[in-house]
Amino acid sequence: MTKEPHESGERNDVLPNGYISRRTENGSALALKTERGIFDIGVVAGFLKKQLPTTIEMLIENGDADLVGDAVAAYAAAGQTAGMLDKRDIVFAPAVSHPEKIIITGANYRDHLDEIGWAVPKFPLFFNKFNNSLLGHNGLLELPRADTEQFDYEAELVIVIGKVTRNVAEEDALASVFGYCVGNDFSARDLQMRTSQVMLGKTSDGFAPLGPVLAPASAVPNPNDLAIECSVNGERRQSARTSEMIFSCAYLVSYLSRYMTLKPGDLIFTGTPAGPILGHPEKDRKWLKAGDMVETRIEGLGTLRFILT
Ligand code: MN
Repeated sequence: MTKEPHESGERNDVLPNGYISRRTENGSALALKTERGIFDIGVVAGFLKKQLPTTIEMLIENGDADLVGDAVAAYAAAGQTAGMLDKRDIVFAPAVSHPEKIIITGANYRDHLDEIGWAVPKFPLFFNKFNNSLLGHNGLLELPRADTEQFDYEAELVIVIGKVTRNVAEEDALASVFGYCVGNDFSARDLQMRTSQVMLGKTSDGFAPLGPVLAPASAVPNPNDLAIECSVNGERRQSARTSEMIFSCAYLVSYLSRYMTLKPGDLIFTGTPAGPILGHPEKDRKWLKAGDMVETRIEGLGTLRFILT
């Protein structure tokens, strides 16, 4: 990368405020990270004798992003600390686990198009992943072993839809967004390029890491003004701003909604900036391998870490 890195002052290990889906013996449970710490929503609901969503899916389906935050504030104001969680003890589930759709936008940053030699598209380009590809923060991504080796990272901002959305105007589109996450459109380039359809190289198990948190839209006033970075084993490989997108978040939501009904929990990956290994000169490409640690960071949304195995 020749660009200056964008420093926001956030340390890599700081967990931002937002919703956390954590693994439990029974599946997953909802927690909320606030300035006061991380609260287990099941415990908060029990104390307040209130019906609250206890999974991320229930939260998104419920649609009221303030409900849980208000309950946690009331719980904390009552001096309660039972059920507070230490982030070191949390096993992170994917920030969203059961979307109906995972839509991936390709070719959405000019610098990335330049490096791979593509023209700026007239229309957004989409493909998809499936739920098997979702992986939580701190997860182990088990690489496929059969006849593939060109593993690559793609830092991406991910939109999480919050309500049933059809034919929404661009100026109203962000009101349909529940929140935002850090994601990585992990790719096997040899499988991606093997045929004319990219799907096989994009949706192996674990190829869509998502997290650590789901930040509510209210905490992200402009999703197209965030620093975005990716590093491998601590070495920065991508550094850009989401303002460089060709098609903005609002445009993508509006455009997609003309052709399909977007539903609560649907994920839209918004494309990656310059810097994936694919963009390096062919002789310099050193593909990712087992043991590598990939960290994707977006301003205000935290650092998503996963390790290849
Ligand atoms: Mn991508």
